[in-house]
Amino acid sequence: MQYLLALAGNQNSGKTTLFNRLTGSNQHVGNFPGVTVEKKEGFVKNHKEAVLVDLPGIYSLSPYTSEEVVTRDFILEEGPRVIINIIDATNIERNLYLTLQLMELQIPMVIALNMMDEVRASGGSINVAELSKRLGMPVIPISAAKNEGITELIDVVIQRAESPRELPRLDFCHGEVHKAIHSIAHIIEDQAQRAGYPLRFAATKMVEGDGPTMEALHLTENQRDIIGHVTSEMEEMLGTDREAALADMRYSYIEGLCADCVKKHRETNEQIRSERIDRVLTHRVFAIPIFFGMMLLIFWLTFDVIGGRLQGLLEGLIDRGAGLLGEALAAADVSAWMRSLLLDGVCAGVGSVLSFLPLIVLLFFFLSLLEDSGYMARVAFVMDKLLRRLGLSGRSFVPMLIGFGCSVPAIMSTRTLSSDRDRKMTILLTPFMSCSAKLPIYGMITAAFFPRHGGLVMISLYLLGILTAVLSALLLKGTAFKGKPVPFVMELPAYRVPSPKSVGLHMWEKAKDFLKKAFTIIFLASIVIWFLQSFDWHFNLVSDSSQSILAGLGSLIAPVFAPLGFSDWRASTALITGITAKETVVSTLTVLTGASGDAQLSMALAQIFTPLTAISFLTFTILYMPCIAALAATRRELKSTRGAVLTALFQTGAAYVMAALVYQVGRFFV
Ligand code: GDP
Ligand code: MG
Repeated sequence: MQYLLALAGNQNSGKTTLFNRLTGSNQHVGNFPGVTVEKKEGFVKNHKEAVLVDLPGIYSLSPYTSEEVVTRDFILEEGPRVIINIIDATNIERNLYLTLQLMELQIPMVIALNMMDEVRASGGSINVAELSKRLGMPVIPISAAKNEGITELIDVVIQRAESPRELPRLDFCHGEVHKAIHSIAHIIEDQAQRAGYPLRFAATKMVEGDGPTMEALHLTENQRDIIGHVTSEMEEMLGTDREAALADMRYSYIEGLCADCVKKHRETNEQIRSERIDRVLTHRVFAIPIFFGMMLLIFWLTFDVIGGRLQGLLEGLIDRGAGLLGEALAAADVSAWMRSLLLDGVCAGVGSVLSFLPLIVLLFFFLSLLEDSGYMARVAFVMDKLLRRLGLSGRSFVPMLIGFGCSVPAIMSTRTLSSDRDRKMTILLTPFMSCSAKLPIYGMITAAFFPRHGGLVMISLYLLGILTAVLSALLLKGTAFKGKPVPFVMELPAYRVPSPKSVGLHMWEKAKDFLKKAFTIIFLASIVIWFLQSFDWHFNLVSDSSQSILAGLGSLIAPVFAPLGFSDWRASTALITGITAKETVVSTLTVLTGASGDAQLSMALAQIFTPLTAISFLTFTILYMPCIAALAATRRELKSTRGAVLTALFQTGAAYVMAALVYQVGRFFV
């Protein structure tokens, strides 16, 4: 008999760390609010009957963000046996705010009081027994990161799940709000039961004026009236609005509770250190220059100092491997076409992409350092003012930064945005942030045309992506996305030293994804392209690929790109195949030019492009619609095929305009 356990808590309270401890799995941990976007499941260690679900981090159960809705729906619909509420003990007041709301759901709960190591180190203490008594549920002090108290927590949770239901206490309301909640509870009792809502939760939601819950209860006109009267009466008596009244009630209860149970004489060491660091890193004037300096340093290290060298080494190895394979195939007397398929198709295609592995792993290494240390959250905070001018908020910065890695998780992370308008706009703009899959394309073109200015070209292209996003935002803010971004609230986590395990895990995941892509999509695409460029319409092997099926197809669309300066069928073909995965642009061009090795590829490219058209080609490649995976993510998040198609059209249109500008303006100079 399996049963569900739900892990709920604020963002950055250590939920994923605890989830990994409880289940023995390896989910990504980050010191960054909003990292976990989808719920994850796993079995509790040594308890195959208990399925644990890691819910997104939330601060309340009001439907302000889609994550809050996900969490709410999950708990209400799936009815977990026990809720494990993880609390960051260094921020106990704020964390208890969610606890009080979870208690209203009337499901057995256990509190995991996390980060106790930091509380202890700062000389604080928490009276766990008293806290447990007052809330009517077990409270287990733990340190997820240091693996303390985990077995005890598991024991208590399992015992709770398997014994008769013991529900959290509900005596934390008082005064006018108390009156309102209880009188509304009487009125809606039947409807709440029918809709499957816990009564107390439903009544509180009525006081709060929560639209979706009101709908779900199917109240009569009369009942709505009465509820309206009761709440206005309450508002009048208290002199505040309904939401503030509820928040006041909860906070005053929490205040009393903490006054009795929590001894926190000073800020934790981490908080003190964080404030000191923040005085520099979020400085009013220096914050943004520091950020850009840091990004420059990262790019320089990634593309030049470390990554470039590693890439050269790997390239050498791959070439040697292909050489050996060639000899072996020749020795084994394998037929010429098969040899060509393996060497000119598979090896050339996959190999051309594979050598970028070090760059990608390195870029993610630096990005995860920024994220885990807590710096990224600051950057979002600092960027808020700038983004606001573009009609976005600091929240949108998060997906955009993740977008430098990969658009798919970036688009998914827009779920942390609370306004629909901000979300849609962010989803549309994020793919302009050049993702790591485009690195091989930059690498290929710079090696061929600008070998001595690789770094410069690279940075200009990243900036070009940002510039296009800025221009698009300015355009959209006055047209398709009228309105104001929501105010920016994001808690700044304490700076922490990133754990090597977490960073290593992140790099490994990215390497795995990349390798998987190289050996599936790019592998297949290379084979298909080899076939299409080796045969003509009558399936005769052609000696000159310009007679091939692919050349025929490519030439059909090639004229479209004439205003951008490149009308070679191989370029347009590469752009089409690039939609499967951006790296395919490189493998396609490699296969199509029949080049083996970098030097040959560079020479072949020089026949397809001039330096100027190469830049225009790059411009188009960076900006046009993202790959299939990102497009699917867009569709999923927008919940609309039409929206996804419009987004892709907009992006491709923007790419076309920018590339045409580059080419047409550039022509005057060269
Ligand atoms: P989530 O956002 O709630 O899933 O939180 P994470 O599990 O990603 O953790 C957020 C940050 O807190 C990470 O940097 C963790 O290493 C850190 N962390 C988690 N648990 C503890 C703990 O018990 N003690 C300390 N000192 N740090 C912790
Ligand atoms: Mg998490």
